[in-house]
Amino acid sequence: MNDLPRIGLGIDVHRLEPGRPCVLGGIRFESATGPIGHSDGDAVLHAACDAVLGAAGLDDLGTLFSDKDPKHRDRASADFCTAAMRLVRERGLRVLSLDAVVETEAPRLAPHRLAMRERIAALFELPVDRVNVKGKTGEKVDAIGRGEALRATVVALLGPR
Ligand code: MG
Repeated sequence: MNDLPRIGLGIDVHRLEPGRPCVLGGIRFESATGPIGHSDGDAVLHAACDAVLGAAGLDDLGTLFSDKDPKHRDRASADFCTAAMRLVRERGLRVLSLDAVVETEAPRLAPHRLAMRERIAALFELPVDRVNVKGKTGEKVDAIGRGEALRATVVALLGPR
């Protein structure tokens, strides 16, 4: 069974607040608002980790790295990716592709999409052409449309090493 591909889905929402640093997909954005979080609030990497962990049949990010634990405060989310990848390798698996959608009014992702793809590809050990990141606005609807929050959704495909 372990030779069959496995799909996983991760979704993460963070509230946005003025004056917070804005790191998405491991890339720092110049933005008037940034995600609030116990770690650096990088919703894209959190959703990517949950997608990868889910596909591997492992516990989710919140279970592995509780936001109640002070040692995860302001932690770079890249650390979570490294830890998730160690667990994936231990299961005899690797990531084959990742596809992300980021819904946010700001910042605009387009100028940094390639940088985000390159960073995510490096963190999850796959070529850039197997990672995609798409930006969407909230069309003025709900909390995302009002610029109060952002949401990242990621699907991951895993296969044997
Ligand atoms: Mg999160």
